Amino acid sequence: ATPTAVMVGTGRAAELGILISNGEALEQARRLTAIVLDKTGTITQGKPALTAVITADGWTEAEVLPLVAAAESGSEHPVAQAIVTHAQDGGLTLPVLDAFEAIPGHGIDARVAGRHVQVGNAAMMLRAGADVTPLETVAQEAASRGETPMYVAIGGDLAAVVAVADIVKAESAEAIAQLEALGLEVWMITGDNAATAQAVAAQVGITHVMADVLPADKAAAVVRLQEQGHVVAMAGDGVNDAGALAQADLGIAIGTGADVAIAASDITLVGGDLRGIVSAIALSRRTVTTMK
Ligand code: ADP
Ligand code: MG
Repeated sequence: ATPTAVMVGTGRAAELGILISNGEALEQARRLTAIVLDKTGTITQGKPALTAVITADGWTEAEVLPLVAAAESGSEHPVAQAIVTHAQDGGLTLPVLDAFEAIPGHGIDARVAGRHVQVGNAAMMLRAGADVTPLETVAQEAASRGETPMYVAIGGDLAAVVAVADIVKAESAEAIAQLEALGLEVWMITGDNAATAQAVAAQVGITHVMADVLPADKAAAVVRLQEQGHVVAMAGDGVNDAGALAQADLGIAIGTGADVAIAASDITLVGGDLRGIVSAIALSRRTVTTMK
């Protein structure tokens, strides 16, 4: 497009809450054939709430929840926030967090009041040496509702499953239908487990899902689509998404997301409404047509 056409397009986009950080973004938007959407915080609101605490035989919620909440107080992950908030709302006094380590894509490993507390997905429990069998069914049930189940091991023994639910944004399904109508192949990507991912995907009409993707592997997922000949957009909000946003032909950040995600992107959706992507593509097609 001519510089003038790009300026006009960029100005119009800004009015729609779509910030374009470089002139090539509109050109790229026109060429897109696939888009990868992060689940948590991009398709969903990214503000999960605790829905259930199910304890294993020999454990009580009164015993487990303060330990889990104290352990999660060391984490910045949205699921951690949900657990800590729930404990605070319940007026619980949290024991002291002595040591904390985040295991990216898997969970957390902490020491609370002298006890070893590990929280996370099935891979995290494998690491912890805790047998998940007794609570696997309840975890699967939560996942099939689109909730994220997390196992809790205390002293290396399975103590509970804690589930959190994150509501999909009201406009996500409409945006996804419109992206497909524009001819794009729409993918969901997430570090969350496959069952949860499939349930959320079904709620918003997505059929292509990549789940259990470690933070370091999100960019590789974009490369795979590019190798298949796709011109790929990636939309995400997290620190985890920065590599994939930079790798994509068009990186789209959620305005409420992490600064590094915004810095790695070509476009920022100020309010996080995914229909802004549809507007940007429509605008790019118009902008380019205008100058022909
Ligand atoms: P996403 O942001 O898509 O959820 P992550 O890679 O951050 O992906 O996390 C993948 C999974 O690891 C989560 O779904 C959760 O099961 C587990 N996990 C990550 N952080 C924590 C945490 N602080 N507490 C418990 N589980 C966690
Ligand atoms: Mg996210």
